[in-house]
Amino acid sequence: MITSIQYFLILLFSFTILSAQTVVPDEWKTLCEKTSYKETSSYAGSMEYFKKLADNSPYAKFVKFGNSPQGRDLMLLIVSKEGAFDPVSAKETRKPIILIENGIHAGEIEGKDASMIMLREMLITKEKEYLLDNVILLVIPIFSVDSHERTSPYNRINQNGPTNMGWRTTSTNYNLNRDFVKADAPEMRAWLKMYNEWIPDFFIDCHTTDGLDLQYTVTYTVEKFRNIPPATSKWVTEEYEPFMKRKVEEQGYLMAPYIWFKNYNMTDGLLDYVTPPMLSTGYVGLQSRPGLLIETHSLKPYKERVHATQAILESSLELFNKQYEELVSLNNSADMWNIENYLEKKKFFPVLFDYSPEIDSFLFKGIKWNETESWITGTPVKEYNGEPFEITIPHIHQSVVTDSVKVPFAYLIPQEWKKVVEVLDLHGIEHEVLKTNEILDVARKKFANVKFDAMPYDGRFKPAFEIINYQENVEVPEGTIIVKTNQRRLPLIMYLLEPISDDSFVKWGFFNTIFVRTEYFELYSMLPVANEMVKVNPELKTEFLKWLKEHPEVESNPRDRMRWFYEKSPYYDETHNVYPVLRVEEKF
Ligand SMILES: [Zn+2]
Repeated sequence: MITSIQYFLILLFSFTILSAQTVVPDEWKTLCEKTSYKETSSYAGSMEYFKKLADNSPYAKFVKFGNSPQGRDLMLLIVSKEGAFDPVSAKETRKPIILIENGIHAGEIEGKDASMIMLREMLITKEKEYLLDNVILLVIPIFSVDSHERTSPYNRINQNGPTNMGWRTTSTNYNLNRDFVKADAPEMRAWLKMYNEWIPDFFIDCHTTDGLDLQYTVTYTVEKFRNIPPATSKWVTEEYEPFMKRKVEEQGYLMAPYIWFKNYNMTDGLLDYVTPPMLSTGYVGLQSRPGLLIETHSLKPYKERVHATQAILESSLELFNKQYEELVSLNNSADMWNIENYLEKKKFFPVLFDYSPEIDSFLFKGIKWNETESWITGTPVKEYNGEPFEITIPHIHQSVVTDSVKVPFAYLIPQEWKKVVEVLDLHGIEHEVLKTNEILDVARKKFANVKFDAMPYDGRFKPAFEIINYQENVEVPEGTIIVKTNQRRLPLIMYLLEPISDDSFVKWGFFNTIFVRTEYFELYSMLPVANEMVKVNPELKTEFLKWLKEHPEVESNPRDRMRWFYEKSPYYDETHNVYPVLRVEEKF
């Protein structure tokens, strides 16, 4: 039985909810809203909407930052209450610059639809305008613009809408989220130039995950290991992550760390790991800036994914507005920390990581399945039945450093390796040119047991090798490029130029021509040389016979036997397998 007072209170409550909801004029509804979240707007329709936002607000400017291979414009919406629409004036406001990136994988596009609604609520209907008080906001509506137009309902087999979803890779089949270091795609080259001008204080990359069915609407990763400065890691894990997660879950969207099981097996444990810099959040980590990867769950309805993404963006902005001074000063200190820690205190720089043996537990919220036999697979196949379950599994979320290197005073790059220097420029790495020839003690590297995979990885043939270190006193010619490590991009320099790092230029195949032998020998011409070598140094014979015993596979191959001498003769190419980049340990 409801009393009249209770009835009145219910009425009042309903009225309050209704009046709090802003009515969206028809002309400002997105295609996604108009179609009940079945469709997403085309490239042209999306650009038109973002342009309209900028045309109708003094706080926003829509600018071009590059071109795609098919000739589409790469666009960026800059939002600032002060009208600080360029990197210099934005920095002068001393407010954090926040970059939201949508559609790096164009089939995973809820970030764009969430951004359109959020920006409308900030700039047009204004109920979220307060989220702009203490930040400068940069939004890329769609990054992989060409593949956004390669639409089909058949692009992602286990994704629940929109019906016209885009494709994962670019029009030349690059996966932009593997291209942050090597920068092969024109889109990435434009992005790096834009990023390195703005150097945003926080970066959010919006995706949709696939894989198993689970209860979570969203999974996510924030960089927090030793690939970023410790104070940044502390702020991210103690301030940002708990605040954002709590706010999003309060809105009804269950969140979990990115789901990646050890050995692809749930009960072996959930893994959290240092993101490599070929991926977006790993890259900004090496720029000593915090970043968030959002992966909404592909099996959830598109509407739920759009609004969960919006909840994350807004919760993040809420914290950035509160802690804007902390975030800016954290990033300034991070740059100084790198130089103090690695150059002044001479600490070794970590380049390789592994999982720590330390293990916690994690309550995983999954969806049950039945197994059906199939004559096609010949094995049982999972069929999710929608029934939720919980299980406590190991959580392996600490990392250990497995290799680190001393940071030199500078790296020297011979001027002929221009293509490498061009990519350093894209990354904003500063360098100088040697004015006169200099005799210098340098640390060098040579590669042995070089092997290549049979197939390219994102367009590149990646070598694997062992490294031989040696010292040399050499004359370095004028014109050589000097990359001093005393700069804010020190971590990036180390990752790119130290061959041991998994994202080094050498491992990405920038130096593959050094592995090619171009001069050869004939047995008749080499035999007198080998005989003369043994005459001068009789120990060579003993060494050779020992080597021959250890390598029975060359016993009956005269060329391989002779190659042993050839490689030790003055006729051998002394640059073969030698890393052209030199390390100078001390100031010169
Ligand atoms: Zn993705």
